[in-house]
Amino acid sequence: MMKERLDNLQKNILNACLRVGRSSSEVRILLATKTVSTDIIGEVVKQGYSLLGENKVQELLEKVENLKSLDPEWHLIGHLQTNKVKAILPYISCLHSVDRWSLVQELDKRLNEIGKTLDILVQVNTSEEESKFGLSPEEVLPFLEKLLSIKNLNVKGFMTLAAFSSDPEISRVSFKLLKKVQAEAESKFQKKFPELSMGMSNDYQVAIEEGATIIRVGTTIFGQRTTSDSYYWPEQK
Ligand SMILES: *Cc1c(COP(=O)(O)O)cnc(C)c1O
Repeated sequence: MMKERLDNLQKNILNACLRVGRSSSEVRILLATKTVSTDIIGEVVKQGYSLLGENKVQELLEKVENLKSLDPEWHLIGHLQTNKVKAILPYISCLHSVDRWSLVQELDKRLNEIGKTLDILVQVNTSEEESKFGLSPEEVLPFLEKLLSIKNLNVKGFMTLAAFSSDPEISRVSFKLLKKVQAEAESKFQKKFPELSMGMSNDYQVAIEEGATIIRVGTTIFGQRTTSDSYYWPEQK
């Protein structure tokens, strides 16, 4: 069943790319593996899907341990509490959820201690939903101005969660806005911010049409989760 779902995902990615004249090599698949058992994750990693994203530090650390022999690449895609930064840094190659200055400071401090740098994405709230984390689009340029002086952090681009909706055309508005933020940032700082992490199971095809370079998909490969997403996406800021 999973093989069929993965083949279907590939086919849909290819078709979305064809519609807008992109190469499918520009789109990386990140598997959002929250709640999925390491046995199942191991199966897909063995089929070549080795970019994995988790929302919570504790869950990521457990899976890192269990999947060590397969050596997948881990990104943290959920909200990161400042007091968890130190624990997670050795295990991730990219953090998708940079959304506040206190987090930047803690990252910088802990990276200094271990002599590492980290790829990051700035999370942008493109849906005006109060419950969502992320900077508002207007806050991004001033934030970047300060962020770009932090040498331990490589700002690779932007991440967003679209509005909750079953209609991918509503998501498209969010994705266009993230693309616009990227263009403004590149123009202002004369620097490339190539990565756009956007699109989930219900709207990744639209995200690709709008320029996604990383799509984050879970349900479409692993099936419905039994744990409510509100556990992973806190209602309160
Ligand atoms: C769970 C999750 C996804 C994937 O969602 P699906 O609808 O299962 O594809 C993507 N991004 C984030 C931040 C998530 O928490």
